[in-house]
Amino acid sequence: MAFHAVDIIRTKRDGGELTGEQIDWVIAAYTRGDVAEEQMAALAMAIFLNGMAPQEISRWTDAMIASGERLSWDLDRPTVDKHSTGGVGDKITLPLAPLVAACGAAVPQLSGRGLGHTGGTLDKLESIPGWRGALSNDEMLQVLRSAGAVICAAGSGLAPADRKLYSLRDITSTVECIPLIASSIMSKKIAEGAQAIVLDVKTGSGAFMSDPARARELAATMVGLGARAGVDTRALVTAMDVPLGRTAGNAVEVAESVEVLAGGGPADVVELTLTLAREMLDAVGIDADPAGALADGRAMDAWRTLILAQGGDPDAPLPRPRHTHTVTATSAGVVTRLDALAIGRAVWLLGAGRSRKEDPVSAAAGATWHAVPGDEVAVGAPLITLQCDDEQLLGPALAEVEAGLQVGAPGAVVPRMPLILDRIVP
Ligand code: URA
Repeated sequence: MAFHAVDIIRTKRDGGELTGEQIDWVIAAYTRGDVAEEQMAALAMAIFLNGMAPQEISRWTDAMIASGERLSWDLDRPTVDKHSTGGVGDKITLPLAPLVAACGAAVPQLSGRGLGHTGGTLDKLESIPGWRGALSNDEMLQVLRSAGAVICAAGSGLAPADRKLYSLRDITSTVECIPLIASSIMSKKIAEGAQAIVLDVKTGSGAFMSDPARARELAATMVGLGARAGVDTRALVTAMDVPLGRTAGNAVEVAESVEVLAGGGPADVVELTLTLAREMLDAVGIDADPAGALADGRAMDAWRTLILAQGGDPDAPLPRPRHTHTVTATSAGVVTRLDALAIGRAVWLLGAGRSRKEDPVSAAAGATWHAVPGDEVAVGAPLITLQCDDEQLLGPALAEVEAGLQVGAPGAVVPRMPLILDRIVP
């Protein structure tokens, strides 16, 4: 049955509920180009302002899945996927995918590029010489079979309605809306065809859900959508008030991930990687200890196989920056603030991220912090090292760092958010 876009917009504008048929029609017609961009923009704003009932969100998600292909994997292992809503220094996919593969699951990890202050997994991995993230469906299957995991770009056939709508939301200030975010993420994740999905929903200044209560609501909405689609979906709500680990950028995050795979690395990155790995393995019924696979080198072997299978050289030196600048402590005391958003913005200004989808990124740009909130520092101690290819980018990045990094009086007590705030299951 055909509907009129204006009637659908009016219903949402006036706080009404759309029928399943109206939702199917508007998503399909928008994907074909029969609903104009300005009409979809008006509908997105009406949804932003008035929300959606659970059954509308569910049908909206199904309609976006139906706009494209739904992958399925012919494998002899269970498939499980992880999604993070994005944060600063969030390199977890890099050690996690090979770790979970080393424990016996298959991990088809379709990832994105960074936009704004949060980094993208594909940008990070592309700093490895030769590595390729654009794979055909056949290539994806081959890599999954040989390495147990594949990390690549989502093809254009997956939820094309979301691809169009997400770009439109980006330029119409309608991104931060729980029904639209939940349906956007889950339509792509469900279409990827994994049997189970584990979500890492970030909260804090560096996340787009800075309020923990909203992050929990987003997590619960996505878990509900997964369950309704028959996919075992669980979510962790995790802290993003302080950046993760000790590095943010592209090559620097690859290097830190390799440290984790070698059995070292920052404690928070290791803890989050292991917690997510346990959740993923549990979701597909595999009783294995991921800490053992990190310690005995099996996860590192899986990483090397994965990088090689995607054309990369795991032994090649990573790109080095032309310029570095280290900020030091001007007084002795305790680090009281290392703000995730400020560090993310600094790294973005150094060239590691992009403002528009088409912008190139610098592999070598980034930051390494030497102290985190709660650490005692002496006068002159290094606090953070910034690196970039273009020296002129240092000034603006330094201004961000100065606003986001503070050393307080000696003995100051610094309250920290727990790394894992909540676990949400159906
Ligand atoms: N990521 C997505 O894929 N969609 C959103 O709406 C927000 C974040």
